[in-house]
Amino acid sequence: MQHHQKQFAAGKHFPCKAAVLAALLCLLLTFLMPLALLLTGRIKVPESARPLFPFAEPVPETAPETLTGPPSAGTRDSAVELKVLLNGETRSMDLGTYLWGVVAAEMPASFEQEALRAQAVAARTYTYYRMAEGCPFHPDAHICGDPGCCQAWMDYETRMADWGADAQLYADKVTEAIRSTDGMALYYGGAPILAAFHAASAGSTKSALEVWGEDYPYLQEVSSPEDDSLVPNYYSTVTVKAKKFAKKLKKAHPEANLSEKDCAKWFGAVEKDPAGLPVSVTVGGVPVSTVELRTLFELRSASLSVEGKDGKVTFYVTGYGHGVGMSQYGANALAKEGKTAEEILSWYYPTAELSAAADSECGTTSSQ
Ligand SMILES: [Zn+2]
Repeated sequence: MQHHQKQFAAGKHFPCKAAVLAALLCLLLTFLMPLALLLTGRIKVPESARPLFPFAEPVPETAPETLTGPPSAGTRDSAVELKVLLNGETRSMDLGTYLWGVVAAEMPASFEQEALRAQAVAARTYTYYRMAEGCPFHPDAHICGDPGCCQAWMDYETRMADWGADAQLYADKVTEAIRSTDGMALYYGGAPILAAFHAASAGSTKSALEVWGEDYPYLQEVSSPEDDSLVPNYYSTVTVKAKKFAKKLKKAHPEANLSEKDCAKWFGAVEKDPAGLPVSVTVGGVPVSTVELRTLFELRSASLSVEGKDGKVTFYVTGYGHGVGMSQYGANALAKEGKTAEEILSWYYPTAELSAAADSECGTTSSQ
């Protein structure tokens, strides 16, 4: 260095010195000035141009149209094939395609995204459960499209046509809910759980033991926050003529004594569960479960009270569905409070574990 300084001082190589100075000036203008302006905040990098990680490879943009429709190949769901009974016909399809039709049919797509994600996981888990356990009502198909047996299902074209003006927005929400939870399911003791769900409970869900007579550690009674401000037809009434009521009830319970003329006197003690929901009502001296009354008189739920008056019997019903497992309106209410899908799922299925680890095992089970 010393040597070069001496040379410049002597002025012997002036043209060379000018060239070096010009180069330095260029360097300054080209790199240092913009850097100085950037650091002092006089130049702002637009948000869209900032890489997530410095020096990372540019992320290829996803074409918007690939978001709609059932999740495409490459997902865990798309690698699982299953047989679905739809309108009397058994069809083979991949789990991603199947789940899109379930989430789109089972939950209003206007619901919060975290509620839709929770629904996607519950539907996937229920499907894994059926693939592992089978269903006696359709031994040749893993699952069916009857919501009274398995899960509702709608094909893409029909659902899109039904959604009308909001179709694109809703389709994207459903697709996102499935893709963002790809392969995720709930397990207990290493096996997929019976992830039951229903529309709306009456302030608290019901245990599977109470409704189906079979106990599951993850299907217990839990509080649920939905109410009449969130659920359409949360309260409903059904009135039948006393004669018609007596005929139906006597058919199921010939031992019931309904000889009293005043039907108000037919009804006695109401047994309630720990959450205060009715379990059974004494009718003509016989305790009849509210679950049975729901079926007999086609009521929206088994959370009911009943009254006889002026030759008519009226049921006062709260909520919609069997009341076991996740409440869909409850999930939406929890999502509105800021709860994540994972928190919603652990709320309604306590003791179950969320995991993507065992999905390949289910694929194996399905092929047996
Ligand atoms: Zn079924």
